[in-house]
Amino acid sequence: MRLKRSLHALCELYNTLRAEKIQQYQQNHQSLSRTELRSLALQIRRNNPKLRQVYSQAEQNVADRVAVAFKNYFEGRARFPRSKRFKDYRSLTYPQSGFKLENRRLSLSKIGKVRIFLHRPLQGIVRRLTIKYTMGEWYAILLTNRTEPVKPDINHVANDKVRGGDLGLTQFLTFDNAESVEYPKFLRVAEEKIKHLQRRLTRKRKGSRRRRTLALQLARVHLHVARQREDWQNKLINAIFKECDALVLEKLNVAGMLRNHHLAKAIMDSSWSQFAYKCMHKADMQGKHVLFIDPYGTSQFCHQCLTWVPKTLADREHRCPNCEVDLPRDLNSALLVRKLGILSCSPSDGGLSPAEPKPLPLRTLRHGQAAALKREAHNL
Ligand SMILES: [Zn+2]
Repeated sequence: MRLKRSLHALCELYNTLRAEKIQQYQQNHQSLSRTELRSLALQIRRNNPKLRQVYSQAEQNVADRVAVAFKNYFEGRARFPRSKRFKDYRSLTYPQSGFKLENRRLSLSKIGKVRIFLHRPLQGIVRRLTIKYTMGEWYAILLTNRTEPVKPDINHVANDKVRGGDLGLTQFLTFDNAESVEYPKFLRVAEEKIKHLQRRLTRKRKGSRRRRTLALQLARVHLHVARQREDWQNKLINAIFKECDALVLEKLNVAGMLRNHHLAKAIMDSSWSQFAYKCMHKADMQGKHVLFIDPYGTSQFCHQCLTWVPKTLADREHRCPNCEVDLPRDLNSALLVRKLGILSCSPSDGGLSPAEPKPLPLRTLRHGQAAALKREAHNL
């Protein structure tokens, strides 16, 4: 396989350049610059038949990687660059040219044509290509120079384009329009499988062949589930932003997440934070907004009259003694979350000031003086 041979050669080059840089520093107290590393790489290439079979720019990119690794170290962002083992050196980059994409085939200079599956249509012009090898599979990462869309001002988003969502255990997500999304069964099943494999793995002797095989199997299932989950979340978020311009969610309680040991809960927590993170990313790409509000009391207050209606986790219904609203609790939360999102943004001076989020209202509400706020909320 030519790709593998290229990786091998580039890994050796990386280690040689790294060693050279260290040696120059120790002997002459000179720090080799990126340009010097590049020309050094060229010299090495001339006398090395293996490297001559690698595209020259991919080889120059190795010099850049060495330079960046040391820069990160000197600026305190990373550890001292280590020498790479072949099994850890898994990607090569075509920084500008030397590749061409046509008819689902990627032609690589010095390597040849490979079949490629595009996961999404390309937007913009491809500037840079990285080929990566993980878990026995090859990936092409294409970097394009698409510009991000300009976000409309959050204060100009119409209220009917704002969606509130409540993340929960029974339903993954409940919206303020009473629609809800279940956490898909196939993911639950796959997670059960992981649990099962994990248990079997711990019973195998360390260093045994069976343990290795099982560990690989487990890693594959993990990867598979991760991809399925990602795909599912992407589709969900695309569907949400197709209909609305701003999504309001609760800020997740990360400290609470770290403390819990219950597996099902831990999995949900990690899906939620992944979901929240993805929402932000997608919102940026599509020119939409995501707001995170203080989760304090969102399951207790009545969304309509803002009366405190205490519930335990087992209470699935919200029945307000004050305004007689009767709703599933998740729906009440979603409605309240949406309301809080809108309140936290709408400017008090008719939109003249820059979007300055107001302090979040519920905490003060709990302690009485909030008639004005109640009136304001009532008009929404
Ligand atoms: Zn009420």
